[in-house]
Amino acid sequence: MAIKSVAKEAEEILLASEMITLGARLQVLQAETGLSYDRLARLYREVKGCSPPKGMLPFSVDWFMTWLPNIHSSVFYSVYRYMDSHTPAKKSRALVEAYRLYLEQASAGRADEPSGEPVLSFTRAWMLIRFFDSSMVQLSYCERCKGGFVAHAHDPQKGFICAICRPPPRAGKTRAHAAAAVKPLIPVKAVNAALASAKAAPAKALAVPKRSPRSAASLPLSR
Ligand SMILES: [Zn+2]
Repeated sequence: MAIKSVAKEAEEILLASEMITLGARLQVLQAETGLSYDRLARLYREVKGCSPPKGMLPFSVDWFMTWLPNIHSSVFYSVYRYMDSHTPAKKSRALVEAYRLYLEQASAGRADEPSGEPVLSFTRAWMLIRFFDSSMVQLSYCERCKGGFVAHAHDPQKGFICAICRPPPRAGKTRAHAAAAVKPLIPVKAVNAALASAKAAPAKALAVPKRSPRSAASLPLSR
């Protein structure tokens, strides 16, 4: 019988706890760690103080194509890709770090309603990466702002205009937003800067300090 490394197990428990805090479902934890269902369920109760939710994961590619989820998931995925390719944070670590950055950006300028649910949940963010890995979605580049946006795989790239450059007529007109006097969830400038720089991502120009992937990756967003 193979002896499981204690250090490796500790690492996985730490990763799982961070993911639970960010809102991961148990199925995500099972896929990302080698920990048993029972241990993960126990860890979940310890971290969250309640039992993990049951039921299927949200399995819909179409959700990512509606305009607001599309903007949020495109921001998240661009950050994730940057992390995974240009910082020491890879795969599940890149997912955690990118999702944290996404939360920071998504709540920027929303001090009045900080407790609101993020548009993109952690579990959906994880699903999105799986959709990319299995080539069910692609990044299409907007002809106007040059940002990369989540789109169905094999959608024609030519003439693509993103949901920020050409929002649908009803965009942002929900009751909640009408009450809050319609403020963009993420400043459009910041979104475009993040998307454009994640696309260009000059590996050499952006010298990434080994120790701090978060501050390095926040560079393109804060510009
Ligand atoms: Zn655009």
